[in-house]
Amino acid sequence: MSESGRPLAAQIALVTGASRGIGRAVAVELARRGAHVGINYRSNAELAQACLAEIEADGGSGELCPFDVSDVDAPADAIGAFAKSHGRLDVLVNNAGITIDGLLLRYKEDDWQKTLEVNLGGAFRCSRAAARPMARKRYGRIVNLSSVVASMGNAGQAAYAATKAGLEGMTKALSRELASREVTVNAVAPGFIDTEMTAQLPDEARAAYLAMIPLGRLGRAEEVASAVAFLCSPESSYVTGHVLAVNGGLYT
Ligand code: NAP
Repeated sequence: MSESGRPLAAQIALVTGASRGIGRAVAVELARRGAHVGINYRSNAELAQACLAEIEADGGSGELCPFDVSDVDAPADAIGAFAKSHGRLDVLVNNAGITIDGLLLRYKEDDWQKTLEVNLGGAFRCSRAAARPMARKRYGRIVNLSSVVASMGNAGQAAYAATKAGLEGMTKALSRELASREVTVNAVAPGFIDTEMTAQLPDEARAAYLAMIPLGRLGRAEEVASAVAFLCSPESSYVTGHVLAVNGGLYT
């Protein structure tokens, strides 16, 4: 624990897709634990600003860090500049993600490419950009947001599930690659969490999912954020290459 008593005091963190949902809850939680948080988003500046206002109202600090994770160059440029301006980067949370659902036979090529580029390409490029400053300081925490569907599967989500399963493979590979530099790489795999992403679900599908969840309810973004925050902290120093399920018992 640091002098100020907060586990992430003086640490620099970047959370992708932090304008809403799980990413916003993670950004708020990391700031509450003392980190200065870069709030990444793609398009919704107003919501990202609201996230920053919430952090500051709580006595924390952060800054907006807009870029499109699916762009080939933007993650390296933005993360490089962010790390340089603070002299370090301790934590990266690859949270930005999209889901474009559809059955295989009607699935559009463009939607497949978009899903791959944001969910998998984004995490790959952001990790590549973060690994350099982390390796230099011989300390780092990378946490990737996977999903229960990576291992459980779900009809109509072949593209999304493929990206999340890929992300888990990438987590394990990078955990081995970066371990010698004291950089840990883990994933959190949420089940069904109450955010805009799941708000799109038709009532019938929502009721069917609820019936399968032993805890009998959707999860809250804050419940995912506390698991992510543990993996972002010095307390998780001997955990790497792990996928932590936060799914109310839906799938084990
Ligand atoms: P959400 O409410 O839809 O929010 C998505 C966030 O990602 C937004 O901040 C959005 O920014 C950002 N984003 C999307 N594309 C981006 C891009 N190309 N570049 C930068 N930012 C981008 O999603 P969520 O439900 O919180 O999910 C967060 C993560 O958890 C995702 O990886 C998702 O797959 C995973 N997950 C969610 C659930 C769930 O039940 N909700 C379950 C399992 C896993 P803008 O506002 O600017 O668009």
